[in-house]
Amino acid sequence: MTHLLHRSIQSDLPVAARGEGVFIYDRDGKVYLDASGGAAVSSLGHGHPDVLKALHAQLDTIAYAHTGFFTTEVAEKLADRLIEDAPEGLDKVYLVSGGSEAMEAALKMARQYFVETGQPGRRHVIARRQSYHGNTLGALAAGGNALRRTQFSPLLIETHHIAPCYAYRHQHEGESLENYGARAAGELEDKILELGEDQVMAFVAEPVVGATSGAVPPAPGYFRKIREICDRYGVLLILDEVMCGMGRTGTLHACEQEGISPDLLVIAKGLGGGYQPIGAVLLSGRIFEAFEQGSGFFQHGHTYMGHPMAAAAGLAVQDIIRRDNLLANVMAMGAHLTDCLAQRFGQDPRVGDIRGRGLFQAIELVENKETKAPFDPAFKIHARIKREAMQRGLMVYPMGGTIDGREGDHVLIAPPFIATKTDIETIVDRLGAAVDAATQSIG
Ligand code: PLP
Repeated sequence: MTHLLHRSIQSDLPVAARGEGVFIYDRDGKVYLDASGGAAVSSLGHGHPDVLKALHAQLDTIAYAHTGFFTTEVAEKLADRLIEDAPEGLDKVYLVSGGSEAMEAALKMARQYFVETGQPGRRHVIARRQSYHGNTLGALAAGGNALRRTQFSPLLIETHHIAPCYAYRHQHEGESLENYGARAAGELEDKILELGEDQVMAFVAEPVVGATSGAVPPAPGYFRKIREICDRYGVLLILDEVMCGMGRTGTLHACEQEGISPDLLVIAKGLGGGYQPIGAVLLSGRIFEAFEQGSGFFQHGHTYMGHPMAAAAGLAVQDIIRRDNLLANVMAMGAHLTDCLAQRFGQDPRVGDIRGRGLFQAIELVENKETKAPFDPAFKIHARIKREAMQRGLMVYPMGGTIDGREGDHVLIAPPFIATKTDIETIVDRLGAAVDAATQSIG
């Protein structure tokens, strides 16, 4: 009997005892290839000696100093480093302990910006139905994931959702990807006009959608159109790169591949690679100046914000990724993963779509490839795949359809950036066997 309330009450979890590189070892000695970085967290793999050294060194100097009294060298260095590599216009860094906390801070920054600049009527947040932005109440309200939201809806602030950019399901026959992207982005303008153009404060989106639908990239030009619409109506653009950011798609920030810069960039998971809990908001100089020239502070804060141990982990992980040129490996191994997935699943009647960028890719399962009809959700194909994969020593991240029940189960693959060709081939082999076993198990 355990006194720990687990994420899933029914499941019997193996006890993780040790991690090394792309592998996790359980207490009984079984080895798991970590092909999802947990939930796209482990960017550098496990037990990296240089990160451990940096953490020990930080522990030897100072482990905690309240940010109301002190700053620390390590937090300052990490902020400098993040701004050095940031998309254009982002100028300040707010350090917190994870993705949801960062999302909450970004929403409050957007609101305070409009209060400080004399536009207190701006209060509406628009997001997309295919999205997850965190589990705290503000972040949950922004997300469109029905499964996670429904029972808590009486507690959530009012938010508004438009359709996602999800070409596999929403592109019309004969429509070019570019035209589809423009049509999908046009929904934002319609929603802003419906709510009142001086009433909307922010649009929130994941550049490459993660947990809700498995590595869904935007159509070309979609985010450029989104940026234009936000600028036209004075709406702040918040990009949530908690999952797809910090190198996962092959560029440090996923939005670089869209040729745009947000007003607020939310990052977490890959930033500290799982060595410590850390998240951050990168904000534009314009927002910071509104605070500086207005009330003089951002009305927010947490006990553990700017934590020196978390900052040390973030700095070490990011230094090693840069030093070892690991983004090049993300690109190269990402291309290999694309090829292996196409070879193994391209003709598979149960795999409707293979998609993603860099080491952030997914397959979407369907019962009928012609009609794209998903499997009956009651079969919980995603849970079966997870079980079968774990039995085969493979950790992937399968999820069920979560928008409106019309999309299929999917499996997200997001191994550490140090993955080799052999690792990629092993991942796809084991995943193939797990998908076979899971689909055969439903008869
Ligand atoms: N935003 C996105 C896109 C995420 O994928 C997640 C977590 O999966 C979050 C926010 C929330 O982050 P956290 O679980 O660190 O609170």
